[in-house]
Amino acid sequence: MNVVLMGMPGVGKGTQAEWLERENGLSRIATGDMLREAVQQGTPLGRRVREYLESGQLVPDDMVGELIGRRLGNSEVRRGFVLDGFPRTRQQVVLLDRVLDRRGLRLDAALLLTASEQDIVRRLEGRRVCPHCRKVYHLASRPPKSAGVCDACGAALIQRADDSGEVVLDRIRLYGERTSPALQAYRERGLLHEIEGGGRPDEVHRRVREELERLS
Ligand code: AMP
Repeated sequence: MNVVLMGMPGVGKGTQAEWLERENGLSRIATGDMLREAVQQGTPLGRRVREYLESGQLVPDDMVGELIGRRLGNSEVRRGFVLDGFPRTRQQVVLLDRVLDRRGLRLDAALLLTASEQDIVRRLEGRRVCPHCRKVYHLASRPPKSAGVCDACGAALIQRADDSGEVVLDRIRLYGERTSPALQAYRERGLLHEIEGGGRPDEVHRRVREELERLS
């Protein structure tokens, strides 16, 4: 199965994508992670995108398009993939169509995780991440066993620069302006399936699994 996970920042796309990777063997392709990695490693791309990431702005299409094009060219995606954080604009929907066409691949569904704006702000502000292995925590709903330390690798947890204050509100605003038209594009094609993203991650996962079973 080839699916796209959509929804506001912090709605739980990353957590659900990880689950789908583990349980269904799908290749997880998360543009945010790929871009953050490029920044951390100080690659030429990383240097060009750093400011966009820190201010919560969208990275220009040509840069994200190149990353996605390369990644979808890997043979491992043939066993199925889950895209997390891409496409985020109507132009990126077209860009993805072109890449998939070229590779002889097809999208089966776009799953939209929904949550209230209030919930989103709470989730983003409490989110902590491991800069080393990228495991994601939440201070209230998914705390690490030992405060401030990653359960998996022992690194000190951090708050993403774009997960607090005004940047959070900017990202939510940007989602409404730029990503809503991308959702509409999939809705018009009958590919969009809405899933309630509230509640515990395992409850959301059950809903995601049920939706995928209905589709297969
Ligand atoms: P995420 O981890 O998905 O919340 O993405 C973090 C940041 O990476 C975003 O705020 C953007 O700056 C950048 N980014 C990730 N995916 C995309 C995309 N598809 N298009 C443009 N920028 C992106």
